[in-house]
Amino acid sequence: MKLNKEKIYEKLPVFLQNYLVSYAGKKIMKRRYDTGFSDKFKEVMNRDLTSHKIYDFQKERVRAHLKYSMNSPYWARKIKQYNVNIEADNIIQELEKLPILTKEEVKENKNEISISEEDQNLIDIQTSGSTGASLKFEQTKEFEHEQWAVWWRYRQSLGIKFNELCGYFGGKIIVPIRNHQGPYWRFNKPGNQIMFSTYHIKSSTCEEYVKVINKKEIRWLHGYPSALALLAGYIVEQNLSVTSKIKFITIGSEGLQNFQKELIEKAFGAQVYQHYGLAEGVANISECHLGKLHVDEDFSYTEFVPLDNSNTYKLIGTNFANKAFPLFRYDTNDVVTINPEDVCECENKGRIVEEIDGRRDDYVILPNERRIGRLSHIFKANTYIKEAQIVQNNNKEILIKVVRMQEYEEFKEEEVLIKQARKWLGEEIKINIEYVNEIKKTKNGKLRLVVSEIT
Ligand SMILES: [Zn+2]
Repeated sequence: MKLNKEKIYEKLPVFLQNYLVSYAGKKIMKRRYDTGFSDKFKEVMNRDLTSHKIYDFQKERVRAHLKYSMNSPYWARKIKQYNVNIEADNIIQELEKLPILTKEEVKENKNEISISEEDQNLIDIQTSGSTGASLKFEQTKEFEHEQWAVWWRYRQSLGIKFNELCGYFGGKIIVPIRNHQGPYWRFNKPGNQIMFSTYHIKSSTCEEYVKVINKKEIRWLHGYPSALALLAGYIVEQNLSVTSKIKFITIGSEGLQNFQKELIEKAFGAQVYQHYGLAEGVANISECHLGKLHVDEDFSYTEFVPLDNSNTYKLIGTNFANKAFPLFRYDTNDVVTINPEDVCECENKGRIVEEIDGRRDDYVILPNERRIGRLSHIFKANTYIKEAQIVQNNNKEILIKVVRMQEYEEFKEEEVLIKQARKWLGEEIKINIEYVNEIKKTKNGKLRLVVSEIT
């Protein structure tokens, strides 16, 4: 929504806002699930993830994508420059001749990378880019269908049906920020979503949220873990009763912290399932019903490039499903942990990721200039935290902001927090803890784990 549209929206009565939310919802539904989707969904559901043959399928898609990308001036040049033999048997070895592609490089060469000749029905996409590094590109309709088909395969594997009413907690400002009166939700009728405002979740409003969940008998909650955890914190603190039988909780868009998962599960009495995906379509990871994170090998070609001597890897990927904007070996800037011994009892042969650690530039710099990432580990042993953030303004000290729950006992929890922080950051850096009532979110409503002035 453009600025002036937002201003008009703000002034409308709630019923008209509901109408507009539904109107936008209808447009999205039409685009996402129009002709072509059901065929794509059937095709995706017929892919046999339980057989290693899925890797042959993946290789042939990489090959086809390389071939087609000769229509892109940028890729035609790169494929030639790095002697990539598209006909070679070992196509992955050929692909890996190409250097890793950064977001900056993509931004600089955007027009040369794009291919628009085959499908005139292209859809404009803009990544969220919470630090300002947002990216605009195009995707084909077929790609959008496939992406949603893969996402629905994951949802259905958990038992969620297409027509399940969804309580959605995302970053959209659907209730004007200045509103200090409810309702704090709008109804997207065509999308069958009750869209809750994540910006209005407060100690004084949380009961309203619970009432709606109960009244509408919502069984599926989906959205940002930071928002769901905040609401969950208030529910537990105020001992509110969630009478609606919550069956499914799925989260996306942000990394999931341990304390968030515990809190959400405690408040709603259902397991939280995690999912990783991005608009660029270079990687997709879904949690199976047994709680393991599997790579969706049929959707993209995902590489794990070692980051240091631990089990952490850069998440790099190739988006063979999007013909309009080919990306080979694109650096997502995200980090994952892999345990090579991990196995899953489920039948999915997709590789297993132990943890999705989030953004690579979320790190703290120590006095000796060393950079330490994966900082969510600091909060692993704490339970009574609603929100947390690490702020660094110089390399001598960090500030840990914490939004406490009532049950938080300072002397106990602080000791645990400092102990964990010292384990990861060593003894030299000064650690300050500040208790706050809320933590500022990004313009997309996301909660950044680390805010650094010096990186
Ligand atoms: Zn599994």
